[in-house]
Amino acid sequence: MQEPDIKDNLKQTLNTFKSTGCRLVAVSKTKPVSDLEEAYAAGIRDFGENKVQELVEKADQLPGDIRWHMIGHLQRNKVKYIAPFIHLIHSVDSLRLLKQIDKEGKKVERVISCLLQVHIAKEETKYGWDEKELMDFLYGEEIKGMKNIQILGLMGMATLTDNSETIRKEFKDLHRLFTQLKSQPLPEQVQLSELSMGMSGDYLIAQEEGSTMVRIGSAIFGARNYT
Ligand SMILES: *Cc1c(COP(=O)(O)O)cnc(C)c1O
Repeated sequence: MQEPDIKDNLKQTLNTFKSTGCRLVAVSKTKPVSDLEEAYAAGIRDFGENKVQELVEKADQLPGDIRWHMIGHLQRNKVKYIAPFIHLIHSVDSLRLLKQIDKEGKKVERVISCLLQVHIAKEETKYGWDEKELMDFLYGEEIKGMKNIQILGLMGMATLTDNSETIRKEFKDLHRLFTQLKSQPLPEQVQLSELSMGMSGDYLIAQEEGSTMVRIGSAIFGARNYT
């Protein structure tokens, strides 16, 4: 397999961002530390991983000014390993998980930034909150007692499909929900400023539909080898 030119891929990807103001999280899962170093040398400071152990191992080996993003399904018993340093957890898919993050945040005296992952895809397997759960929670009482989390926005993953209209509709729906939630008074733990949507195959559509943060892996680091 041909080695991907990470620096060139980054340049080309960022060129397509134009003036959207959208930010890049470089998704480095399964890739060796040397690949992350290459992206770091090219100026990247935001890296996304989807497994706790891999994230922690890489963080140990790489410079301290990197902002680490957890983007994959997070098990509650693993929150403690990332609580001391994680920059943003995109994949908060349940209230039980959020409570655990709040608890671990308290232990390490941090307020941990989170995005709530919304279920927008047709696939059954994708984790996340639905609209009603979100409303009930954000405008409810329970959140007011949570002092060690802050909710900065929403995250969503579109259906894995070649049909760009399906993808666009899902992103549009998420953006509409985001705007709607923002229009009402929210507790102090909630500042809805980030909308994390878009991956290598659909980030241009996501940007057109209001994404503020895209999570791009294979377009930068090349295809992943899963075993
Ligand atoms: C792997 C992954 C990405 C990046 O996927 P690419 O298609 O390689 O860009 C984005 N978001 C999540 C949640 C992922 O797990």
